[in-house]
Amino acid sequence: MSAAAMLPIPDRDSEPYWAALASGRLELQQCLDCSHWTWPPRPICSFCQSENLSWQEVAGTGEVHSWVTTHNVYSAAFAQLVPYTTVLVRLDEQPDILIPGQFGSNIQLYQGLRVRARTQPLTDQIGELSWEADAR
Ligand SMILES: [Zn+2]
Repeated sequence: MSAAAMLPIPDRDSEPYWAALASGRLELQQCLDCSHWTWPPRPICSFCQSENLSWQEVAGTGEVHSWVTTHNVYSAAFAQLVPYTTVLVRLDEQPDILIPGQFGSNIQLYQGLRVRARTQPLTDQIGELSWEADAR
C-alpha cells in the first residue's frame, strides 16, 4: 500500500523518523540516560523524562499485537486502497513499544506473528513503514 496521496506532515519531533524511513531505516529515539526507547517521537523520554534522546536504528523486527482491516472509505485519498490492514507491532527492542504500519503480506494474521519492517520512500524526506511476515 502506498499512502502517497496523503502524506504525513513532519513536525520538530517526528521529522527524523520520517526522514529515516525515506532512507530505508527504522529509527526510534533512545534515552541516553536510562536506555529506554521512546515512541511516538517526543522531546523527552517517556520513562525518565530526560531530554537526552538520540535517534538510533532498530532491528525492525517484532510480533503482531493487534490489527484492523479497513473496508470503508473514510478518505477519498485511500479509496483505491481499501480493503487494507494496519497492524500494531510489539517491537523486539522493547515490548511496550507498539508501532503501527500497513501489513504487506498475504497470509493469515494472528497475535504473535513474527514480522519485519519494510520501508518505502514517498518523497526525499518522508518514508512509509509497512510490516511483512518474517520468513526467517
Ligand atoms: Zn530515560
